[in-house]
Amino acid sequence: MAGEMGRQGLGAAEQLRAALGDDMVSTDAAVIARYCQDWHGDVTSSALALLRPRSTQEVSQAVRLCAELGLGVVPQGGRSGLALGAVPDAPEAQVALSLERMDRIRSLNARDFTATVEAGVVLEAFKTKVSEAGLYFPVALGAQGTCQIGGNVSTNAGGVNVLRYGMTRELVLGLEVVLPDGRVLDLLSRLRKDNRSLDLKQLFIGAEGVLGVVTAVSFKLMPAPDQVATALLALDTLDDVIELYRVARRQCCDLMSAFEFMPASAFALAREGIPDLALPLDPAHRAYALVELSGSGLVDIEALLAQFLELAMEEGLVRDGVVAQSKAQARNIWLVREGMNEGQARRGKHLRTDLSVPLSELAAFVAEAEAAVERALPGAVCVSYGHVGDGNVHLNVLPNAAAAETVDQQIDRAKTVLNEVLDRYDGSISAEHGLGRLKKADFAARASSVHSELLERIKRAIDPASTMNPGCQFDLRVDRTGAE
Ligand SMILES: Cc1cc2nc3c(=O)[nH]c(=O)nc-3n(C[C@H](O)[C@H](O)[C@H](O)COP(=O)(O)OP(=O)(O)OC[C@H]3O[C@@H](n4cnc5c(N)ncnc54)[C@H](O)[C@@H]3O)c2cc1C
Repeated sequence: MAGEMGRQGLGAAEQLRAALGDDMVSTDAAVIARYCQDWHGDVTSSALALLRPRSTQEVSQAVRLCAELGLGVVPQGGRSGLALGAVPDAPEAQVALSLERMDRIRSLNARDFTATVEAGVVLEAFKTKVSEAGLYFPVALGAQGTCQIGGNVSTNAGGVNVLRYGMTRELVLGLEVVLPDGRVLDLLSRLRKDNRSLDLKQLFIGAEGVLGVVTAVSFKLMPAPDQVATALLALDTLDDVIELYRVARRQCCDLMSAFEFMPASAFALAREGIPDLALPLDPAHRAYALVELSGSGLVDIEALLAQFLELAMEEGLVRDGVVAQSKAQARNIWLVREGMNEGQARRGKHLRTDLSVPLSELAAFVAEAEAAVERALPGAVCVSYGHVGDGNVHLNVLPNAAAAETVDQQIDRAKTVLNEVLDRYDGSISAEHGLGRLKKADFAARASSVHSELLERIKRAIDPASTMNPGCQFDLRVDRTGAE
C-alpha cells in the first residue's frame, strides 16, 4: 500500500514539474525539508513537492492542477507561525506552496493612506517601505524580519500594537485570493467604507489557508508616529501591572501603543537569549511593565509620559523605572521582551501557550493556572508574560529535566491542567496564533456543535474536496468527488 502511494506520489510530482516547470516546482528532498519544519524545530515533515510561484496567475495554475491531482496545498509565508499551520502532515499527498517570490509592493498611496502588497512581502520590508513614504504600518511582532504579509493576514496576527491599532483584520481593506479550484477572487479595494453585500474577505483573514491562498492585500496605513516614548517599570504584582494599565488607558487614551507584562524571570531569560544584553533595571523585582506611547503632529508625547509616570508613582504602583533617552535605549528595553523568547527556546522543548481571558480576570487566572501547574508538575517553571492590555498571556511551562516523566508527557499534562483552568474563565486557547494542526483537537473539544457545524459547512462550501491546507483547523472526512 505504501509503495503504491509512493508510485502515485512520484507520478503526481512529475506531472507538477511537467505542467508548471522546474523554476516553480522543486522535488529536491533537501530543499523541501527546509520548508517542512516548524519555527522551533520541534516538528519536521516532508511534502511531495515545493511550489514557488511568482504571480497570482502562477498560483492559480498551481492550485488548479493540485485540485485536479487531488493533492493538498499547504500555503506558506515566512513559516514563523506557532501552530503548525504551514507544516505539511501528509508528505505523499500534499505540496508546500511558498508565496516568498510574490514580494512586490503593487502600490503605495500616501494621499489615500493605503498600500496594496503581495502576500510574500516580508513584514519588516513592508514597514520600512511604508515608513520611507512618511507613513506607518502598525503590525509589529518578534518575527517581523521573517513573517510575510500573507501569513500575517492568514493568522490575523496581533503583536505589540494591538491595543491601539487592532489586529491585522482591522487594517485590511481588501484581498486577492486564489480559491481551491484555481479561480481568482479579486476583492482588492482601497475603499474604507463599503457595505455592499457580505464582507467575504473576512472569511479568509485568520483562516490559516484552509479556504484559499491569499495572493495580495490592500491595507490602511497610519500617520508615522514621529514621537515615541518608551519606559520600563518595576512593580510588585501582576495585579499592580493591570491597575497601572487601567490608569494608562484612561490617562493616555489612544496614544498608548504598547503595554507588555514581564515576570520576575524576564531578565534572566533575556540574558540567556542575548548574553551581552545590558539590563535597564534592577532585575530583582517581581513584575515589569513595558509602556510605549507614540504620536504624531501637535501632541507632546514625552510630557504625557512624564505626567503619567508621576501619577503612577503617586498611586504607589511603580517601584522603579527607566525612561528611554534615545532610540538605542528604547531598543534595549524592547530587547528584554524579545530576548525572553530566545532564552526560553534555549531551555529546550517546552509548552508555549497563547491564551486570553477578560482583562479583569487576568491576574487571578495566571495565579490559579501557575499554582495548578506547579501542583501537577513539581519543579516545572511557569513563565507568564504578554500583551496584557489585550488580556493576552503567554503562560509557558518549562519542563523539569529531573522529572520521571518525559518532556512530551510533561508538556501534555501542563496543557491539560492549564486548559482546565482556562475553561473555568471562559478563555481562549488561541488569542493570536491560530489553531493550525497544533490546537485543532483542543478547539474541537470545546466548540459547540452549532459552531463546529457552521465552520464545517463554510469549509465544504468553498473547498468541497478539502485540498486547501487539509489537516489544518479541521479533520474533515471528504468524499474526493466533492459530493457531500
Ligand atoms: C519570535 C516570534 C514572535 C511572534 N510574535 C507574535 C505576536 O506577537 N503576535 C502574533 O500574532 N504572532 C506572533 N508570532 C507568530 C507568527 O509570527 C505570526 O503568526 C505570523 O503572522 C505568521 O506569518 P508567516 O508568514 O510566518 O506565516 P506561516 O507560518 O508561513 O503560516 C501561518 C499560517 O498561515 C497560512 N498562510 C501563510 N501564508 C498564506 C497565504 N498567502 N495564503 C493563505 N494562507 C497562508 C499557513 O498555511 C499557516 O496556516 C510570533 C512568532 C515568532 C517566531
